[in-house]
Amino acid sequence: MEIIDGNKTVCSRCDAVVPLADAVVLERQNNKDMEKPLCEGCLEIVGVPKGYEVERDVTYLER
Ligand SMILES: [Zn+2]
Repeated sequence: MEIIDGNKTVCSRCDAVVPLADAVVLERQNNKDMEKPLCEGCLEIVGVPKGYEVERDVTYLER
């Protein structure tokens, strides 16, 4: 997953650059390396697909 300027990422659906504080990450339950960052708006639209879980606080990825 791409980190921009140390504290932002790109929504995998709408390509918006979002601060990690406002982003969520969908993780495959059986493969934690598969991470899809989403902005909050896109999470509301797509929801959490079967087999994924959502991580709402990803600020630990800031560097
Ligand atoms: Zn989005």
